[in-house]
Amino acid sequence: MPRYVGRFAPSPTGPLHAGSLVAALASWLDARAHNGRWLVRIEDVDLPRCPAGTDALILEQLARCGLVPDAPPQWQSRRGALYAAALAQLVEQGHAYGCACTRAQIAAHAVRSRHGELVYPGTCRSGTGGRPVRAWRLRTDSAPVAWFDRRLGPQSQDVQQAVGDFVLRRADGIDAYQLAVVVDDAEQGITDVVRGADLTDNTPRQILLQRRLGLPTLRYLHTPLVLGLDGEKLSKQNGAAAIELADPGAALRAAASHLGLRLEGRIPAEVLAAGVKAWRGMIAAFGEGRHPPAFSIPDPTGSTP
Ligand SMILES: [Zn+2]
Repeated sequence: MPRYVGRFAPSPTGPLHAGSLVAALASWLDARAHNGRWLVRIEDVDLPRCPAGTDALILEQLARCGLVPDAPPQWQSRRGALYAAALAQLVEQGHAYGCACTRAQIAAHAVRSRHGELVYPGTCRSGTGGRPVRAWRLRTDSAPVAWFDRRLGPQSQDVQQAVGDFVLRRADGIDAYQLAVVVDDAEQGITDVVRGADLTDNTPRQILLQRRLGLPTLRYLHTPLVLGLDGEKLSKQNGAAAIELADPGAALRAAASHLGLRLEGRIPAEVLAAGVKAWRGMIAAFGEGRHPPAFSIPDPTGSTP
């Protein structure tokens, strides 16, 4: 088994807020608790949506909280050649195909929608009939993707039924998030993904892509979401404030408390040291069958570090 390598992968559409700090802290704690490495990847593949300077602000916020990556950060916007190579491999092996459909054409033929998105009806599976290719899609099949989440337990999804043949490269030429994440996780040697529960639903698509590309499947832990006043996931859209850097220790304690950890400490170094100890305790407790009901994290390596 490779040594533990974890990552935090923010999209720089806005500064870190209370919700994204929870995900950052959880991924850092899990890596440290396993004596692993922790990397940061800026997920700016959709560059037009990322205001200039937000990446630097996020890295500064992380640093002020004592969350410093073990290698220089990576930017997805600079890694297009890797995604192009992966897409070419999928096309060559018959796992991906070109799609000529416009949104209106998909809407005319789709029979299902999900989270407001139409499930692609597979129109171009056997060719575009001479129409020019706009986007590239993964050819899914009806075999359910079963996987295990360290907090949520066994999961399964029939990707074809749930999301259909999903996009790998968009009609505007931008590589899809799913493809970029899978390629980057493999290329960076990531073994463990710890991220917010809003991304749980993406995991079966990413596991399917890993299999199609002949890449290892990772271990996953999806952390509880921080909700805004409207009951939705905290986000820039519902008014999440950037974390307060005047007292990073307090911001970390608040994030830890959302993970079920009551931590002592004033400055980040003290809070983080207490956090690693508490996180290890949580893993050990789970191993002994006394895991806290709200947040339980089985040890991915199968042994207490
Ligand atoms: Zn199509």
